Amino acid sequence: MATGMLNSNDERILGALAASDRPLSAYDILEQVRSGGLKAPVQVYRSLAKLQRQGLVHRIEALNAFIRCCQADHGGHRPGFVVCRDCGRVREFEDQRMAAIAESAAGSDFDIERISVEVLGHCGRCRGAAASL
Ligand SMILES: [Zn+2]
Ligand SMILES: [Zn+2]
Repeated sequence: MATGMLNSNDERILGALAASDRPLSAYDILEQVRSGGLKAPVQVYRSLAKLQRQGLVHRIEALNAFIRCCQADHGGHRPGFVVCRDCGRVREFEDQRMAAIAESAAGSDFDIERISVEVLGHCGRCRGAAASL
């Protein structure tokens, strides 16, 4: 998948996501880019949809929030995500076995559009913090 032309709104949103170590909701993003002339939520949603199609941004469904893809080559990869429910940090991973399992489950008569794997739990840092309370 070729990276299409990004406009300044797209670049601004990518910048906000790149600068954050946690996923950002569309509202968080809007708050951060507001000063740059991007004011309407619809502009943010449109831009996020485009960035997702290009694989530059992923949506974390469990958090209803977005992250910048951590891979250099965004072309059509199918990542999964490890999500800490305490601090909200997300780690992106990729494993070909996910596609194999999904294809085997769906069967040959099913056209897979998307595979969503989100592993929810508590990261080591947050477990350590809880233990020391
Ligand atoms: Zn990615
Ligand atoms: Zn955590």
